[in-house]
Amino acid sequence: DPELSDEFQLLLAWADQERKLGVRANADNPEDAKKAFEFGAGGVGLCRTEHMFMDLKRIPIVQKMILAENYSERMEALGELLPMQQGDFEGIFEAMEGLPVTIRLLAPPLHEFMPDKEELLVDVTKLQILDPESAELTKKELLLKKVRQLEEFNPMLGHRGCRLGMIYPEIYEMQAKAIFYAAAKLTEKGMEVQPEIMIPLVGHVNELKQMRQLVIDAAVLVQEETGKSIEYTIGTMIEIPRAALTADQIAEEADFFSFGTNDLTQTTFGYSRDDAEGKFLQAYIENKVLPENPFAVLDQEGVGKLVETGVKLGRTAKPSLKTGICGEHGGEKSSIDFCYRTGLDYVSCSPYRVPLARLAAAQATIRHEQKKEEVYTTA
Ligand code: PEP
Ligand code: MG
Repeated sequence: DPELSDEFQLLLAWADQERKLGVRANADNPEDAKKAFEFGAGGVGLCRTEHMFMDLKRIPIVQKMILAENYSERMEALGELLPMQQGDFEGIFEAMEGLPVTIRLLAPPLHEFMPDKEELLVDVTKLQILDPESAELTKKELLLKKVRQLEEFNPMLGHRGCRLGMIYPEIYEMQAKAIFYAAAKLTEKGMEVQPEIMIPLVGHVNELKQMRQLVIDAAVLVQEETGKSIEYTIGTMIEIPRAALTADQIAEEADFFSFGTNDLTQTTFGYSRDDAEGKFLQAYIENKVLPENPFAVLDQEGVGKLVETGVKLGRTAKPSLKTGICGEHGGEKSSIDFCYRTGLDYVSCSPYRVPLARLAAAQATIRHEQKKEEVYTTA
């Protein structure tokens, strides 16, 4: 683990006095959250919950949830996952010592949790020859059928993000309850917690409206059960152009916006974030079609315009709206400068980039405030 030298700590402390932009970290587990805290993050700006489901011990339960024949079977699987999720959130809240933690409800396509289709096909074919009457074959065939049903041509544009919560509200309900149980338990111990619940991939205000109500209901339920009142906020990712363009409507249902510039870059350019870098993007950069990789450095002319529009419309509808960015760009110098100029409240980046982001945020302030002064003195 890299340690920060005393001199560098001093420089960072000085940078913190100058900067106006908050710096948070993206962290999905207590270890990353601890690193973020040590590196001076002002909170967790993005806790992606999907990694928690990928845990080897949990995959069978997750598959049970997806393969469930009916609601009660699915609820049984979710009942097993709830205490595990609660533990995940307790660990992250504890590591952040009362700083705000933005937890994003489940976002990836469901089939990511399913076994590999090709391997499954080989297993089924083998069993059909060697043991055609076996229960194992029936089980694998059912699994294969489900994997095929869940398969999509464009998973990144498919049944992902809040679209999962809309179709399987019980998954988001379980996550929201786990967050509130964790918060109630730590509050009981006298600790401070600031949960911020974030809904991903919203494109229409009605998605947020429904998911927000679901989170509020879960909070009421847990508060009644535990007798603990929990302070929390609900917000959304802005990562679909339509969300940025209708940000005034969306702000009515949100306490905060976090710009997901990875997806916003994908959807604004129409480039697949999984494929573009490995296919044509390098050639584009070499041939000067693009000045740089827009997935690394924020494209201020296009994607940035959507961010500006989102902030402006959102704040017009709700002046108290908090705004941040949590895509890869949140840890990149020139993108951080853009975030400062756009008036965002914070950037969120990987824990190891937090020191760099603190410096870049201070540089942005100094650079632009100084310019303002120059204008005054020459006027
Ligand atoms: C984003 O899209 O910018 C984002 C932060 O979410 P994810 O990368 O998890 O899709
Ligand atoms: Mg995203």
